[in-house]
Amino acid sequence: MPNTITGWVDTHVHWDAAEFDIDRDAALSRAFTAGVRNAFNPSVCVSGIDKVQALCRDSLAHPDWPRIWPAYGVHPLYVQQAAENDLASLETALKSACPIAIGEIGLDGYPGAPDLEQQRGWFEDQLVLAIEYALPVIMHVRYAVEDVIRMLKRVQGRHRKLAGGIAHAYNGSAEQAEQLIRLGFLLGFGGSLTYEGSTRIRRLATELPVECLVLETDAPDMSPSWLRQQRNESAALPRIAEMLAQLRGISVETLRVQIGANVLRQFPAIAGKPCNGAVAHPD
Ligand SMILES: [Zn+2]
Repeated sequence: MPNTITGWVDTHVHWDAAEFDIDRDAALSRAFTAGVRNAFNPSVCVSGIDKVQALCRDSLAHPDWPRIWPAYGVHPLYVQQAAENDLASLETALKSACPIAIGEIGLDGYPGAPDLEQQRGWFEDQLVLAIEYALPVIMHVRYAVEDVIRMLKRVQGRHRKLAGGIAHAYNGSAEQAEQLIRLGFLLGFGGSLTYEGSTRIRRLATELPVECLVLETDAPDMSPSWLRQQRNESAALPRIAEMLAQLRGISVETLRVQIGANVLRQFPAIAGKPCNGAVAHPD
């Protein structure tokens, strides 16, 4: 299997979000023109899986779009709307629709987020599915890093080892980053590092081992400094990468090759043949 891929990978972008309904095709072309060749699109709820899947299939027919790869899951901020049988529906999608990961799942401890006990229940159930299906996990971790690490360890202790994944929009401490890396996770950085005031995130992105980093936009959210208050776009990724390369004192090309290798190490399926718009299930 090749250990390099061409172009940039936006490891976290919500192309299915309603914010893109007015100009999604053009925004996808802009991302491609900017150099983004692959995009991971996690779903946030089970009812959104069909739209994500359709976009992934469409991307196969558009050579001027990034290839979109799906992840399926129930986002911690969407657990209140989730139905009892959504876990079963999620499992059906995992079997039939070939995602590259389970996501976006995790915990959100921000004031106003859904009840943490309810979030933990969904997170744990989906981690168990990730273990059963040997899929990596795309994690949302906000004001809950310690809690997430504890749950990852507990679930692995009771079952088998997880296949790792990505802690997206990483915003914890260096010590917590080390623990997540030991648990098999890559750390996602994006628009936050473009703000001069984000000294802590900039320090993390500069000092953590480059083998553990991936880049993301989280578009339409988390706009970089030059899009402040405007909708974020995947096309912003190469410029975010330039800033990271500058912070780390390496060339953009060195960073691109390294990050491509990091993504391939964790998601070797993206070098393989697509199935139904996504990847072939190991079964
Ligand atoms: Zn997200």
